[in-house]
Amino acid sequence: MLDTLTIDVQPAGTSRLAELDLANLEFGKSFADHMLAVEYRDGEWQQPRIMPYGPLAISPANSALHYGQAIFEGAKAYRQADGSVALFRPLDNWRRLNASAERMAMPTIPEDIYLQGLRELVKLDSGWVPSAAGSSLYIRPYMFATDGFLGVRPSETYHFGIITCPVAAFFNKPVRVRFEQKYVRAAPGGAGYAKNAGNYGAAMLPSKLAQQEGYHQLLWTDASEHQYVEESGAMNVMFVIDGTLITPELSTSILDGITRRSVLQLAHDWGMPVEERRVSSREVVAAIQDGRLTEAFGVGTAATIAAIATIGHEGHDYDLPALADTSFARRVGAELEAIRTGHTADPHNWMVAV
Ligand code: PMP
Repeated sequence: MLDTLTIDVQPAGTSRLAELDLANLEFGKSFADHMLAVEYRDGEWQQPRIMPYGPLAISPANSALHYGQAIFEGAKAYRQADGSVALFRPLDNWRRLNASAERMAMPTIPEDIYLQGLRELVKLDSGWVPSAAGSSLYIRPYMFATDGFLGVRPSETYHFGIITCPVAAFFNKPVRVRFEQKYVRAAPGGAGYAKNAGNYGAAMLPSKLAQQEGYHQLLWTDASEHQYVEESGAMNVMFVIDGTLITPELSTSILDGITRRSVLQLAHDWGMPVEERRVSSREVVAAIQDGRLTEAFGVGTAATIAAIATIGHEGHDYDLPALADTSFARRVGAELEAIRTGHTADPHNWMVAV
């Protein structure tokens, strides 16, 4: 462990910011000038470095490539009303990264390396934080095994890095989803609660098949009965039925989303009834048919709130009412945006200045 943390900064000679086309930002394509890099060896994390964004040299035998010892996070920094830059709940992402690391037999990251590394990186690249409504700087922390060794055992060396990219407001067109009752994303006792790379790779084929049928995303169901809703694509999912906000309770197969947590907190603050419990596909379909289901939406860092327009179940499509401006989903999305950009009070101290 390092006694006092100093970060070795190697600045990029010239910034690429002038080449950035802010009007046509495509998610995950344009990366800011710098990246954080920290190596783990001899049982400890070495001095963090900030260096120009660029390729990494890796052993072709590393166990991230062969056995999936790779994890990541997703977070955002926002331009504030006063022009400064702040991070949304950064320590929640740090804790979840460490929960993922433990599940994958990888070393955890000390808080100071994560937070100080992230703050210095974002401060250095603060010119890359856009200011248009709904835009932000997307932050991608990641860790992977680096031993050049093909044995199936946890690596002894790792790389932790953070890269960032400016992102525009998510195009919030209501989505078509369908219950997935053949493939599973995660099983009890598996690693669904972790953000390890393999969870996402294994979700690509079922998602692609659903897209070929005209759906944007899947509503994943539980691994044993294929009945209980788990998540929507790479988002947590929520329903409003009879005025109550309902979301699947957390388990080893559901990711503990930070947006989910924030939305539940605001619902609680506003006195809205909230239930975290199992929700079956039958309950959802019956509530749509009876007109008791008024809202369904995904919640996650990328989109914040993704309204669901249609739910497919056993070959039938069920259309949902369009979200009114007074809907909970719209209100909570607007409130989160206002908190994140410093346009309203931040009663839970979610924002951390860089
Ligand atoms: N579920 C999965 C599987 C995800 O990948 C994500 C995105 N991190 C979420 C839910 C939403 O989590 P968060 O609100 O922390 O982005």
